[in-house]
Amino acid sequence: MEFTEKYHDEFKEFLSKLIAIPSVVSEAEGNMPFGADVNRALELVLDVAKKDGFEVKNVDNYGGHIDFSGENQDEIVAVVGHLDVVPCGDLENWKTNPFEMVEKDGKFYGRGVLDDKGPLLAAYYAVKALKDSGFKPNKTIRIMLGCDEETEWNGMTYYMEKEKPNVVSGFSPDADFPAIHAEKGCAQFLIEKKLSAHSSGGICVKSMKGGTVANAVADKAIAEFKYLGLKDGSLNFDDVYKKILASANSFVPSKGSNIENFDGVEDLIQVEKGKEENSILLTAHGVSAHGSRPSLGLNAISLLMDFLGQIEGEHLLCSQSCDIVDFYNDRLGYHFDGSKMGVGFSDEPSGKLSLNIGLVDWNEEKVSYTIDIRYPVTIDFQDVCDGLLEAVVPDEYRVLNLNHMKPLYKPVTDPLIETLMAAYKEFTGDLVCKPIVIGGGTYARAVPNTVAFGPVMPGREDICHQPNEYIHAEDLYMSIKIFARALYELSK
Ligand SMILES: [Zn+2]
Ligand SMILES: [Zn+2]
Repeated sequence: MEFTEKYHDEFKEFLSKLIAIPSVVSEAEGNMPFGADVNRALELVLDVAKKDGFEVKNVDNYGGHIDFSGENQDEIVAVVGHLDVVPCGDLENWKTNPFEMVEKDGKFYGRGVLDDKGPLLAAYYAVKALKDSGFKPNKTIRIMLGCDEETEWNGMTYYMEKEKPNVVSGFSPDADFPAIHAEKGCAQFLIEKKLSAHSSGGICVKSMKGGTVANAVADKAIAEFKYLGLKDGSLNFDDVYKKILASANSFVPSKGSNIENFDGVEDLIQVEKGKEENSILLTAHGVSAHGSRPSLGLNAISLLMDFLGQIEGEHLLCSQSCDIVDFYNDRLGYHFDGSKMGVGFSDEPSGKLSLNIGLVDWNEEKVSYTIDIRYPVTIDFQDVCDGLLEAVVPDEYRVLNLNHMKPLYKPVTDPLIETLMAAYKEFTGDLVCKPIVIGGGTYARAVPNTVAFGPVMPGREDICHQPNEYIHAEDLYMSIKIFARALYELSK
């Protein structure tokens, strides 16, 4: 497979052009359901493939494909990738322009080099190398181009319904090497309780807000509370403020927080006086992580609740705030495996369930949490819903399912997994690695008989969706070879 090397320059040039298109999904414009930029990316790839002699199809700008036709056109071996990217976030965090591919120290930098433009083009050059070598596949090799993978997946749904491709095997190059044989079930829920007016004295939480999305660990949370005085009149506002300030300065998160893994994280809780009379603002700073791996982050909402729980020990919190804080710390908080929420499931192929608290919204009318659960592959979704309900109903909370994706599971002995593993081993020489399980969701769930495969090599840092997105050039070049071998074996 040395024959893939002659494509490196061409590959780089093509990838640079594609990275230069800021294909973040935006409002529909005319017949472009995901905005003009995503459409430009789709057209560029289809144009290049057409010039290279492939049959291409644009499916109403919802998606498209590139075909390398086989003798048996009824059976398709698919590569499923996407052309849209996540937004760049704060540009100040980028050392280079995210929409200009930069090659430095053996790495490519730019939004999409890893997720998913780089691996998608690696697969394209794998197919091109096979075609140019004179190989005649038996089954048709198809590269399917998704356009809104980072948002709603409406494009892939439209494509699958309209085209009804008979995919017999394939992969989505949008996760890690080696082959991914299981993706946990994924569901988001709202857990909510209506509140009534209260004024039992002490500290009353007026509001709390934290987090940005359900599937990330919240890295910031802010609470405002008001001191209503104690019945015995023993403490005035300044006494309380000083007490809180001292507690914040000596705050040590409770057991289970994993704080020991976060050396050098300081100022967990900041305290200041609020604008209103007798009010105090608390700000907690944590460390974000992907929602499928909550134990790798330090959740700011949990820190704040933990801190309030510790104040509660001094009988300063009002009774309603007390109940809410207790519920949170006992059930959610640092209990990443859902065991305190009635969903402590685990199984042999995929390990424990994970539970992330992504958002909190607490005001005078209600308190709500948006949580993200990744459940083991052999567990029934209904059991997850029932478990949650049983756990929260006695405390008068309600549960709402916001969305759900079923798990994907193939035994490690499945022929597709074995073929992909063999291709990976052949070029990496890595004989130790075993097929893996992830909590993330890829297009493999949307296209039958496919699994996720590549591009992140074992041991590489996970920088998906982050600023300064990069991928090692050698990993991408290696991916071209691995994909070519896998597609050859699957389609011959
Ligand atoms: Zn992504
Ligand atoms: Zn992706």
